[in-house]
Amino acid sequence: MELKDVKGIGSKSLGLLNKLNVYTIEDLVTYYPVRYDVLRRSDLDNLDSDMKIIIDGKVESIPLVIRIKAGLNKMNFRLASNDRIFGVSIFNRAFLKQHLGIGTNVIVIGKYDKVKNIITASDIKLGSLGNTPKIEPVYHLTTGLTNKNISTFINMALMEVGKNIMDYIPDYLVEKYKFATKRMALNIIHNPSDIEKLKEAKIRLKYEELFEFMFKINYLKKENTKQDGLSRKILKKDITSISKILPFSLTNSQKEVIEEIREDLNSSKRMNRLLQGDVGSGKTIVSIIAMYMNNLSGYQSALMVPTEILARQHYNNIKNLLGDRVKVELLTGSISKKDKTRIYEELESGEISIVVGTHALIQSDVKYHNLGLVVTDEQHRFGVNQRENLKNKGISPDVLYMSATPIPRTYAMTIYGDMEVSTIKELPKGRQEVTTLVKNNKEITEVLNLMYEELKLGHQIYVIAPLIEENDSSNLTSVNELKDKMNLAFGKKYKIDLVHGKMPSNSKDEIMNKFSQGEVDILISTTVIEVGIDVKNASMMVIFDANRFGLSTLHQLRGRVGRGDIKSTCILISEQDTKRLEILKTTSDGFKLSEEDFKLRGSGDLFGTKQSGDMSFKIADIREDYKILLQANKDSLEFLNKASITNLKLRDTLINKIKQQ
Ligand code: ADP
Ligand code: MG
Repeated sequence: MELKDVKGIGSKSLGLLNKLNVYTIEDLVTYYPVRYDVLRRSDLDNLDSDMKIIIDGKVESIPLVIRIKAGLNKMNFRLASNDRIFGVSIFNRAFLKQHLGIGTNVIVIGKYDKVKNIITASDIKLGSLGNTPKIEPVYHLTTGLTNKNISTFINMALMEVGKNIMDYIPDYLVEKYKFATKRMALNIIHNPSDIEKLKEAKIRLKYEELFEFMFKINYLKKENTKQDGLSRKILKKDITSISKILPFSLTNSQKEVIEEIREDLNSSKRMNRLLQGDVGSGKTIVSIIAMYMNNLSGYQSALMVPTEILARQHYNNIKNLLGDRVKVELLTGSISKKDKTRIYEELESGEISIVVGTHALIQSDVKYHNLGLVVTDEQHRFGVNQRENLKNKGISPDVLYMSATPIPRTYAMTIYGDMEVSTIKELPKGRQEVTTLVKNNKEITEVLNLMYEELKLGHQIYVIAPLIEENDSSNLTSVNELKDKMNLAFGKKYKIDLVHGKMPSNSKDEIMNKFSQGEVDILISTTVIEVGIDVKNASMMVIFDANRFGLSTLHQLRGRVGRGDIKSTCILISEQDTKRLEILKTTSDGFKLSEEDFKLRGSGDLFGTKQSGDMSFKIADIREDYKILLQANKDSLEFLNKASITNLKLRDTLINKIKQQ
């Protein structure tokens, strides 16, 4: 049965559901509430004016609808609740009238005016509250679909095909943990009647999600170890020759990880390695040397990054270093069609040795001559599936993932469980620690003064605009307002520019390039200012609404300054939560900070971005549900390796699902 066959879902609703990323019945029934409202009967003896109240009772008078003007009507009726009578008014719900016959039980939610004894209702529901609180699921909506619509669709689907919804937990584990059936758990999650049962259902569904996820990680790991890779004969002295042309000498840590990579490349086992290193630890050069080694052996290399800006930066770096020796090209979405065609041809013929790009690298029309090494930077942005996709491009390329998002060791073991991990443990010498200050809005003049001091020295500044929602149009207003303010303060003498996520990427690029050339003094940006950007002359970063970010994210942002030898400052502006922010003053160790984030669990966002590839779980929360994750890891590994005959089918289903993705 398909989504469109569910009773009540017409073509219009179907379109709207698609907007919410709901395409199948399975998507629909696992479209979990974002939260629950608990409706508890207000204490009738202690009602005050302007209080939000929730009461239930019986309709006492036939509702009267008054048309105020076109598009605005008001309905009034009397409500009897516990021997008391209240007046109830509600706007624009005339359509409810037919359901509100005298004696009907209703729940009224609204504001109470004590003097007039009238409740101005925001919502009226049929039914009564009973003695236990009523729990109402609240869904993430889109215009045109109400909470009620979604709830109805889900319940209709559960009723019609609930039994056939695939359960990804093998029976023996369902039994072992005394889990409810999937159908029951889904029923409860969408129609909870009792907090305890809801908790249990949640655990079951979280476990299932994590089981499936860890099954995938474990499966990929197993597949990886099966695969033979390319073997090469790269000598130590090959590295020395390239090291000589670098403008700096490599740190010991960099040398160590380069050795690990060299061994991997030489071995006939396929490399599948994660290169971790704090911001500024110098991962890029390691990857460039890895690509150089690969090219020495006659294979092509591809470097994939999440944004155009970053792609261009890496491209320029590589071109500067290796441009004389090998052919390097940039392939991104905004490259002209003509150039694209040429690059495709040259990739296929093998003329290009190194290609740097965004997603464009994994589009199906890109064919390689002999792709031997794939590097992905800021790899946490790519999902497991994209990782796989890229691998399939070559015969059997080695893969190096780079991430600056420090992940507590225990996590890395699970999430990146399918890889080996190398860590750059030290920063290049001569790096100055970034001074971190926490300020509130009242101290803004002081902040502007500090900025001015920096500008006078010819240095550049990043300003991170208040974060609302990347898709929220009010965000644009707020960054524009900020730009006006900055212009007012500095506009006469300094050049100020703005980048935000809604800009076409070539304009973003243009501004970023101007900033890196020093033609822009203050760069205001929403969070599009990507991890990885390297502008040495930028010595100050001012972050508004800093409390909205996790410590790790702030640390990443802070890592944009202090990249050269200029003394740098990061100013965190926040009205609240300053205690947490102060932690950033005490350490510049990204790993420590991610552990702090983890402990605090508050708004801390371990992975920098919610959408980060693999981490977008529907119900599980990798921090909160860590114990479940560990258990799911263990169970899924066991299931993968020795499933009993009765479960073979499920195992195949899971594997097929991975292959299809
Ligand atoms: P990240 O690990 O955050 O990606 P990058 O690779 O961008 O860091 O390196 C940060 C800066 O440090 C770059 O400007 C790079 O040229 C420089 N760098 C890298 N390695 C060294 C080193 N061994 N000594 C001095 N500077 C270095
Ligand atoms: Mg980087």
